[in-house]
Amino acid sequence: MRCILFGPPGAGKGTQANLLSTFFKIPHLSTGEILRLKQNDNDNLSKILKEIMSSGKLVSDDVLNKIVSEKLLTAECSEGFILDGYPRTSNQLYHLESFLKNNNFSLNFVLNIKLSDKVVERRIIHRSKTENREDDNIEVIRTRIKTYNFETRPISEYYREKYQNIFFEIDGEQEIAKIQSDILKILKK
Ligand code: ADP
Repeated sequence: MRCILFGPPGAGKGTQANLLSTFFKIPHLSTGEILRLKQNDNDNLSKILKEIMSSGKLVSDDVLNKIVSEKLLTAECSEGFILDGYPRTSNQLYHLESFLKNNNFSLNFVLNIKLSDKVVERRIIHRSKTENREDDNIEVIRTRIKTYNFETRPISEYYREKYQNIFFEIDGEQEIAKIQSDILKILKK
């Protein structure tokens, strides 16, 4: 099963993707997680990543496109994957579309978790107290929400239009368990 998850920061994509990954036994590819791990490498790239990510801006498309296409070709992803955090820009969208086409991969599901900016802010402020992520403070959160609305929302709209049969929207303001059961209902159809 090949699946893309969309949703603003704080939508609970990571939580839901982890649950789905266990349920369907396919890997969860979170570009945010991969980039956070890369920050530990102590090389040139890690310094650049730290600076960009702590400001709430997006890392360059070239870096992301390379990371994702390499991952998707590994044996781990042969039975499918859950993409979380990619594609986020039009350049990434075109890259992924041609990558999938060239490798004869088709998508099975595109899920869009929806919630209001107010709830996003509230959740991330709460998360900042428990997870200690450098990008979870109010100013950076507002940048991330803006970036999401300007850059990534249009990408999810593209999928809504182009992949109507496999595009589903989920109410992200519900409890985690309810969101999960909504998603499972869709995926088991
Ligand atoms: P969230 O969705 O909660 O903002 P993520 O963990 O998905 O957080 O991403 C954290 C940061 O990693 C982003 O703010 C951005 O700097 C970087 N990042 C993750 N995915 C991408 C991507 N596809 N393109 C560019 N930057 C990305």
